[in-house]
Amino acid sequence: MKTNILNRIVEPEALQHSGDFLGLTLTYPKELTPFAYTLNNGTVVEVWDTGVLCLTPANPAGIDLVLSSGVHGNETAPIELCAAICQDLLLEKIQSRHRLLFLFGNPPAINAGKRELVDNLNRLFSGHHSKGAGEPGWERQRAARLERYVKRFYKTAEAERERLLYDLHTAIRGSQFEKFAVYPFLHGKPWSKSQLQFLQACGVDTFLLMQTPASTFSYFGAQSCGAHAFTLELGKVRPFGENDMSRFSACDLMLRALLTGTNTELPAFDESSFNFFVVSRAVNKQTEQFELCFARNIENFSQFPLGTLLARDGDIEYRVDEPGEAIIFPNADVALGQRAMLLVKPVSIAGQVA
Ligand SMILES: [Zn+2]
Repeated sequence: MKTNILNRIVEPEALQHSGDFLGLTLTYPKELTPFAYTLNNGTVVEVWDTGVLCLTPANPAGIDLVLSSGVHGNETAPIELCAAICQDLLLEKIQSRHRLLFLFGNPPAINAGKRELVDNLNRLFSGHHSKGAGEPGWERQRAARLERYVKRFYKTAEAERERLLYDLHTAIRGSQFEKFAVYPFLHGKPWSKSQLQFLQACGVDTFLLMQTPASTFSYFGAQSCGAHAFTLELGKVRPFGENDMSRFSACDLMLRALLTGTNTELPAFDESSFNFFVVSRAVNKQTEQFELCFARNIENFSQFPLGTLLARDGDIEYRVDEPGEAIIFPNADVALGQRAMLLVKPVSIAGQVA
């Protein structure tokens, strides 16, 4: 790589001066030579790769937090939110008490203003990056690298430390519940009450409780790394500069409180203040004739009367067959065999939280 010398000599100083790790990442979107330096407050800053920055305070408190954004390149609000927190830490406007790993998932796609270059990065984790045929495209290589970095980040810590992974997204469409989380399958372990309370304070009170393994980053974090891991859908996709960041202020405030160790009173857990859903059916696209039978701008979690035709796929018809069934993530443009829509239904979690 012809920029090696430049990276080694100029970039650490540029980052120390500006604190703009997102800017550095987007200047070198595919590769960045690792470097490290120490802040005046004793925090060690390590750049492991483009979009991968590890912060270790001199005396780390008990949480190891992975904060990722830009796994889908066009989901700009979380990228802006994380870049601002990262910059404030690097410029020592705030100081984290905990170990932190910032990830900007897909820098070339961020530069292109696209969700992905070749493959959906959030379908490639837990080894799925190695499963496709042919030469791996950019996202398959990146998923393998991100898995290595997350494992390296958690491996250096003792087992009793709390592991958190928040993967921040915005959705293609609006939602009946503006902010919601996908809580990955825990293989029968109870859902975490304290995590539900913390995320509720971030403005997330709707949870899709998954009941099967997945190829997502958050499932990888939960299953392979033992982290409390979530895909957080914080609003709707918009281009850089067009986000109303006030809609993310609760999340921003709570993340900053978490990492700076600021005491925040959380309200007592009350199931009735949440919406919990489980997947009733996953609809995969089987033919090129697949079509959705509702308005293109339909919101996530929209419900329809029993019997309503939702989609057609060749000879197959998908209709609402349970009361309360709602649609989520409809997308007719996926590749054959991929998920084109989920149908979800409300559920109670009484007795399944701890
Ligand atoms: Zn996304």
